[in-house]
Amino acid sequence: MAPISLADLATGPVSPSDTVKALKSYTKHPNLLHSLPFPIAKDGKPNAVHSKGIYWYLEDGSVLMDAGSSGVAVTCIGMGIPEVFDAIDKQMRKTAFVYHAYLSCPPAAELADYLLAKSDGAFQKATFFCSGSEAIEAALKLSFNYWRNKGQPQRRHFISREYSYHGNTFGAMQLGDSARSHFYRPLWEESSTFHKVSSGGYLRDKREGETEEEFSERMSQELEAKILSLGPDTVMAFCAETVNGGIMAAVAPPKGYFPAISRVLKKYDILLVMDEVLCGMGRVGTLHAWQTVGEGVRPDIQPIAKGLGGGYMPISGVLVNHKVSEVLGEGMVHAHTYQEHPVACAAALAVQKYVFDHDLLANNRLRGAQLLTLLKEGLDHLEYVRDVRGTGCLLGIEFEPFYFNPKAKPRFAPRLSAAGRINGVLLTNLSGNQDFNYGEGCYLAPAFTLTEDETNLMAELVIKSIKDAHQSYI
Ligand code: PLP
Repeated sequence: MAPISLADLATGPVSPSDTVKALKSYTKHPNLLHSLPFPIAKDGKPNAVHSKGIYWYLEDGSVLMDAGSSGVAVTCIGMGIPEVFDAIDKQMRKTAFVYHAYLSCPPAAELADYLLAKSDGAFQKATFFCSGSEAIEAALKLSFNYWRNKGQPQRRHFISREYSYHGNTFGAMQLGDSARSHFYRPLWEESSTFHKVSSGGYLRDKREGETEEEFSERMSQELEAKILSLGPDTVMAFCAETVNGGIMAAVAPPKGYFPAISRVLKKYDILLVMDEVLCGMGRVGTLHAWQTVGEGVRPDIQPIAKGLGGGYMPISGVLVNHKVSEVLGEGMVHAHTYQEHPVACAAALAVQKYVFDHDLLANNRLRGAQLLTLLKEGLDHLEYVRDVRGTGCLLGIEFEPFYFNPKAKPRFAPRLSAAGRINGVLLTNLSGNQDFNYGEGCYLAPAFTLTEDETNLMAELVIKSIKDAHQSYI
């Protein structure tokens, strides 16, 4: 296939009204329920008919470059990889499904062996589910299970952070702090299980003149105060995204954050759950994000998902360390029908082997750094751009919160997605929710397979789209 060029993707100069019109031009299918609040979903969306590498081929004949691994950091090796098709096909023909509690099937054990062997001895056991939210639910239950087995049933509190995203099942929504968590909040107003501390976002919450280390120390003091107010021997676990992905836009922890937090957790013997559903499985350039930003801190329990199966099959997992595994003994009081699904596990194993066999984590770091440099060069000087940041192939662009008229509809981030659509790039917008004080931003999570040329083109398209979206405000 000939390489895709800017000329193939761009459809011509974008006028301000084109950007707004694009948001309105998508078709809606009358028989599907759409997810809200995604402005694009509400207004309809284009049909993807075919995908290869990092390109989506749409029904109207246009091509979209995928800057977000299908928008939410999933398709980490791109689409159309024959090795993955073969693994799926083979397993499907052998055994498409067994119920894990009655029969075992090799793929789950092989996947567990592979991941544990690649994890520097950090983990002792693994289990697999379908979605990130299920992995989070399992992490919550494993924490409870752990303390029951330890003879401390009075431990019943979870502490997590503001502006975090942990998924959409009931436990995950209470743990997180998304717009959807807030929508459903009346249903658990009385909950005494889930508690929040500050986000850990330095840019958002730092005080005048405060260094990153001082900020991290203050965050750990806030956590300690929360633990003391709940009663130290009543807290099960603290849960944080190792790198915040979907709400604050690729915010890595400031210097000293996890060591400071970990000291407090150790003092009160509280479990650390690092949610790596989005930022893990190679996304930031190492298999686990804590290997890049944890400063030596490792989790007790770690949910993983998106990059695990790279979108070829729905699959998630939970990894637990020796300490947790020993106390759990034979297993956990928890099960789902599709746990350890053989085809999903075989697909994930093929994806992970592809990542390692092609040295894609090194490529991820190289191309992530190239993209970050280009985006900074193209955007840092714009008065409406507040921050351009990134770790490996997880990059975030945050816009000045008070630059745009908060009452303008559509807001900036959805306009940016629309401008991206016109320019030929799929962008993940993080649209400000006024009631909940989000900023406006977008994150990029390209596939780890990016070439140098694709990286240049992606940067060009993203910068152009941001400028076009800005034009549409004027
Ligand atoms: N945790 C984090 C950090 C996520 O980003 C997500 C999804 O975006 C989830 C959990 C939930 O995963 P899922 O949407 O697969 O249920």
